[in-house]
Amino acid sequence: MTHHVIIGAGEAGLRAAAALRDAGERHVTLVGGEHMPSYDRPALSKPDGETGLFHRPIAVDLARLEVVLGRTAKGIDRETKAVILTTGERLAYDRLLLATGARPRRLACDPAGHALMLRTLGDAEAIYGKADAGGSAILVGAGLIGLELAAELTRRGMTVRVLEAGPRALGRGVPAEIADVIVSRHRRSGVTFDFDVRIERVEHKSVVLADGARIEADLVVAAVGIEPEVGLAVSAGLACANGIEVNSRLVTSDPSIFAAGDCAVIDHPRYGRTRFETWRNACDQGAHAAKAMLGEAASFETLPWFWSDHFDLGLQAVGLHDPLRRSARRDLADGGWLRFELDENHVLQAAAGIGPGTSVSRDIRLAEKLIERGAFCAPEALADPGLGLKSLLKVAA
Ligand SMILES: Cc1cc2nc3c(=O)[nH]c(=O)nc-3n(C[C@H](O)[C@H](O)[C@H](O)COP(=O)(O)OP(=O)(O)OC[C@H]3O[C@@H](n4cnc5c(N)ncnc54)[C@H](O)[C@@H]3O)c2cc1C
Repeated sequence: MTHHVIIGAGEAGLRAAAALRDAGERHVTLVGGEHMPSYDRPALSKPDGETGLFHRPIAVDLARLEVVLGRTAKGIDRETKAVILTTGERLAYDRLLLATGARPRRLACDPAGHALMLRTLGDAEAIYGKADAGGSAILVGAGLIGLELAAELTRRGMTVRVLEAGPRALGRGVPAEIADVIVSRHRRSGVTFDFDVRIERVEHKSVVLADGARIEADLVVAAVGIEPEVGLAVSAGLACANGIEVNSRLVTSDPSIFAAGDCAVIDHPRYGRTRFETWRNACDQGAHAAKAMLGEAASFETLPWFWSDHFDLGLQAVGLHDPLRRSARRDLADGGWLRFELDENHVLQAAAGIGPGTSVSRDIRLAEKLIERGAFCAPEALADPGLGLKSLLKVAA
């Protein structure tokens, strides 16, 4: 009888556990360091507009799984194949999955930790607990999570100022034209932005800039990216470099140990060494890791996809953005638009869309299919809103 142990009860860990159980495995143990039952992380920065609720459980049925919450794995004994918990308990495994996720990157200029950060339910409770209407907030970092939080704090009646070290918002992974639309939407609701800002230090309720200026705020939040949670893997001697290194089947440098989700840097057949930091990747890699743990040998080839919400606007993107590629723009009837990226042979490589709510979903799904099929697309056809993407898909079939 095979013992499967999974460390990390986030999206990747849960999906893997459920997939193993659904495949008929009887000994699946899921260990999660957080005390609370597993919850949907993206909802933390986009609470329900009506109720304000940001605690939404992950939609995975935990029946017939052994779930150990609130206990942290502190070591892996690869000789005897056992995971050691902080309680001293040892869990024997035949196959082990590391789905340890990531932690927010700390601001080097904030050793005292005055700036709050957002990763866990506890972090969200701390931030929203201080988000009083009429108060002021500084968001350090104009990435997706920082800007989603800026929108939510504005919705709660705070005055929000965003400080960004780079020359523009959403510098990683989002085309500049789409980032501009998102920034304009924020500005319309009163969010202000400072770019190319150097922060000297963060103090209690203030930020001091390199030029000596002091900005007071009731709440300071840093959202400057994440770092993969690799401590366990490093101490076990597994190969790690910006994540736990896995091959295209999600196997680490130890054939009995797998990794998936935010913590894993995968040898992706299309993109080479890449670590994805998105919800769907965690779900898909979790399910894929389960298959790999059962001995199935397929490569993980799924395209990266993510969404992000800003006030009434929804962004969705598929594939990896490269600003140097040729692009085509398609305007949609509701004011939204799509941006396609093609390689030198006019093969579609990536697409992103911005529009009201989830209005771009269907087109992004079709773009994903076109990319998967390696479809040749004339830029004029992509730009023509009268020509359905479905018809391009038929040509590509
Ligand atoms: C505020 C916020 C908003 C987001 N919004 C979006 C979005 O709109 N769209 C999108 O695509 N993505 C979004 N993401 C990213 C997405 O949530 C993550 O990519 C995804 O949740 C990663 O899942 P994971 O299972 O790999 O890691 P995690 O969800 O981080 O789970 C890892 C778990 O492992 C546990 N753990 C770590 N080490 C140990 C140990 N030694 N022992 C026991 N347990 C351990 C951790 O406590 C954690 O619970 C958002 C993330 C955040 C924080």
